[in-house]
Amino acid sequence: METPTYPTRIAIDGPAASGKSTIGQMLAERLDMLLIDTGCMYRAVTLAALNADAKISDEQAVTDVARNVDLQIQPAGDKNDGRLYTVLLEGQDVTWEIRSAAVDGNVSQVSAYPEVRRNLVQRQRRLAEQRPVVMVGRDIGTVVLPDAPVKLYITASAEERALRRWRELRERGQNPSYERILHDIMRRDQIDGNRRHSPLRPADDAVILNTTGRTPEAIVDEIVQLLQVRMG
Ligand code: C5P
Repeated sequence: METPTYPTRIAIDGPAASGKSTIGQMLAERLDMLLIDTGCMYRAVTLAALNADAKISDEQAVTDVARNVDLQIQPAGDKNDGRLYTVLLEGQDVTWEIRSAAVDGNVSQVSAYPEVRRNLVQRQRRLAEQRPVVMVGRDIGTVVLPDAPVKLYITASAEERALRRWRELRERGQNPSYERILHDIMRRDQIDGNRRHSPLRPADDAVILNTTGRTPEAIVDEIVQLLQVRMG
């Protein structure tokens, strides 16, 4: 049997904590592609704005931060702390800092600003030109890479997503409140799905996968089978 040729761009979208980054990373490893998790870029801009004491409601100030920020995503390397990649902001490792409650609480507002999106979308397209990528986010199949030959939309119930995030934080030694996480996830779903620019929605040609009650391994197997059928 001939080895199938895999696509050079795989677009994965879905709501907060649906498992899309974990699945994206496993898929990228299996297919020797690079994972680009675009959520971390919106998070890094949010952190940079908070660090600069910009008011998050000040669209111009936040847009200026997005335009000027030095932001890099690198492979996790030998950092053995559960990270999927390393995020550098002005050369500083902020991989875990961008997951803080302060960033969680402000990132949806930052990512609703059209000029912030325009700037980050440009950076994302440039990254996708450099090598084969699995790109993960909210608008990858609809806006960033509308010509990607494979588009997936990964979802799960809000309760299961909150439980996963709760476990993740516990594993990192924190003592989070499940109710607060669920509330935050539902609030982000609401803002991300209803914003005027690039709202979260599956592309018309996306394959929708519900991960509720399923392991990432099972989902990745299903995706690889789908790719084999599609790419022959
Ligand atoms: O995926 P993650 O939860 O890290 O994303 C954080 C936030 O970044 C989302 O809630 C959303 O507001 C924003 N985002 C976006 N477009 C993307 C990726 C993330 O608006 N492509």
